[in-house]
Amino acid sequence: MSDSVTYAGIDIGGTSIKYGLVDSQGKILFKKQRPTVVDKGAEPLIHLVTNIAEGLMYHAAEEDHDVRWLGVGTPGAVDARSGTVIGSAPNIDGWQGMAIGSVLGERLNMPVHVDNDVNAMALAESRFGAGVGYDSIVCVAVGTGVGGGIVLNGKLWRGANHTAGEIGHIVIDPNGPECRCGNRGCVEAFCSSAAIIARVRKKLGGKLTPAFENVLRGNVANLNIRKLFEAAKKGDKTAIEVIDETAEYLASGLASVVNLFNPEIVIIGGGVADAGSSFVTAVSAGIRRRANSSATEKLRVARATLGNSAGFVGAGILGETR
Ligand SMILES: [Zn+2]
Repeated sequence: MSDSVTYAGIDIGGTSIKYGLVDSQGKILFKKQRPTVVDKGAEPLIHLVTNIAEGLMYHAAEEDHDVRWLGVGTPGAVDARSGTVIGSAPNIDGWQGMAIGSVLGERLNMPVHVDNDVNAMALAESRFGAGVGYDSIVCVAVGTGVGGGIVLNGKLWRGANHTAGEIGHIVIDPNGPECRCGNRGCVEAFCSSAAIIARVRKKLGGKLTPAFENVLRGNVANLNIRKLFEAAKKGDKTAIEVIDETAEYLASGLASVVNLFNPEIVIIGGGVADAGSSFVTAVSAGIRRRANSSATEKLRVARATLGNSAGFVGAGILGETR
C-alpha cells in the first residue's frame, strides 16, 4: 500500500456526526461536524449519514486523495463483517439492525467498514495517539455512557459476537443503581455524565455552595460536567468529592480489567476525562490501589490525546486492520 493513501472516516454520535480525511501519518487533512438527527428515527439518520459520506467522497476526489474505503463508527455493538448494528444504541431509536455497511456500500460503490464508536476511538489512539508503541491497550471513553475498546498487537479484540470491551457494564455493586442495560450497579450507572450530575444535585440538596453559585450563575439548571470541574478548581468540597468518588468507581471496574488483561496502557478519554486532568490522575491512583501490584508494575494510565477526532480517525483506519 502506498504512503499516499488517505483515510476517510465518519463518527456517528448521539449529538453530532464528525467526519474527515486523515493521511497515513495521522495528520488530519479535513474535518467537519454536523448535528445528529436522532428524534426522527433511524431512516432520516441513515439518509443524513449517506449524504455526508457522498459529500466526503466528492471532496476527497476533488482534492485528488487516494481513498480506498470508507470507515464508520457508530454507537451500539456492530457485526464488523457485515457492518450491521446488532446491539441497541440507547441514544438512537431504531438503530439496532441498521445495515450501515451495505446501505453505504451500495450507494458509494466502494468498501465500507463499520465498527463500534469506542472501538474506533481505541484503534485511533493505538495508532496515532496515547497508545503509540504499546501492544496491549485498553481504552475507555467516559461521557454520556461508558464504553471500552481493546487493542492487542494493533488489532481490535472484538470477541465471539462483537461485544468485547464493554467496560461500562462491569458490575461494581450488585445492589447499586439501575443501569440502562437492565442490570444494577454497572460502572456506567455511577460514571456516566448523567449519573455524576445526579449525585452532585443530590449532594447539594437544592442549595448552591458559593463556588457553584458562581460557576452556575445561580441556576442549577446550568450544571454540567464542565461546570462541575470548574467548581472543583475553585476548591468546592462537594465538587471534589463527587469527582473523586467517580474516579474511584471507574478505578474499581478498571482494576478488574487490569487484573484480567495485564495491559501496558489504559487510555481514558471522553467528555468526563477531557474536562479535567485531575480525573485521570485519580483513576490511575485508584487502579494502583486496587489491582494486583504485579499487574500494575508496568502499567501506564494516560489521557487520550486525539480528543473528539479519535472516532472518525479510527473509523478511517478500520479497513486496514481487519
Ligand atoms: Zn449496565
